[in-house]
Amino acid sequence: MNFTAAQAIDATTSALLDTPPTPPPPAARAVDLTKVFGRGESAVTALDHVTLDLAAGELTAIMGPSGSGKSTLMHLLAGLEDATSGQVFLGETETTRLTDKQLTILRRERIGFVFQSFNLLPTLTAEQNILLPLSLAGKRTDRAWFTQLTDILGIADRLGHRPSELSGGQQQRVAMARALMTHPDVLFADEPTGALDSRTSTELLTFLRRSVHELGQTIVMVTHDPRAASYADRVVLLADGRITDELRNPTEDSVLDATKRLGA
Ligand code: ADP
Ligand code: MG
Repeated sequence: MNFTAAQAIDATTSALLDTPPTPPPPAARAVDLTKVFGRGESAVTALDHVTLDLAAGELTAIMGPSGSGKSTLMHLLAGLEDATSGQVFLGETETTRLTDKQLTILRRERIGFVFQSFNLLPTLTAEQNILLPLSLAGKRTDRAWFTQLTDILGIADRLGHRPSELSGGQQQRVAMARALMTHPDVLFADEPTGALDSRTSTELLTFLRRSVHELGQTIVMVTHDPRAASYADRVVLLADGRITDELRNPTEDSVLDATKRLGA
């Protein structure tokens, strides 16, 4: 029996039995993930057997004290660093089994990353920065998507400027457009509002929420700001490399309470 016929029967059976069809796999998944830096006396366990599913089409915030493993978790999920043990999946792909070359291609085509420090190339214009990953990958530019993204992000009139001629908020929005240009399966953002003032960070967070709820983007964001976390659908709290708590539909108050419990 071919795959399509099997699926048709599966769908029919579901309908007859009134059971929902199998849900889509999580956008990303960590299974028993451990990361140890260094060895012997100086070894640091940055992640300690973390298991986490990240649903597609959600904005997840990762919180926790400094040194709790937030960045390490993001780097491992995004395939930027190797795990010591455990597995990482992006959709159905186990990225912890890929060769470096396969991982480079997967990162380029299926993952977006935004850093606190923007990481734009200073000699390129905003437009050139946004289009660089596509040209490196030898992909054609989707001009309509470029226009839509730069419009939504409010940088359409800044495209000819170099990073030094842009404010911090504008630079971060250029970095965001660059990361979303390839329609990544998951956008990872490590403290994306960390270097922004409160008005600019509200604009960026509003954009993140819109891209999740209107465009179906999956986003994972590290933050230490309860207000930023309140924009998420879900908050995951880390301490000493372990997941200690989790909130759904957080408010600024419920996040504050949870971080106080974490400190206690
Ligand atoms: P967070 O982002 O929550 O502040 P990190 O994931 O950056 O935490 O770090 C978790 C722990 O791992 C810390 O103790 C940190 O010092 C350590 N660590 C992170 N990266 C490295 C590295 N490249 N080499 C050695 N130790 C590291
Ligand atoms: Mg960090």
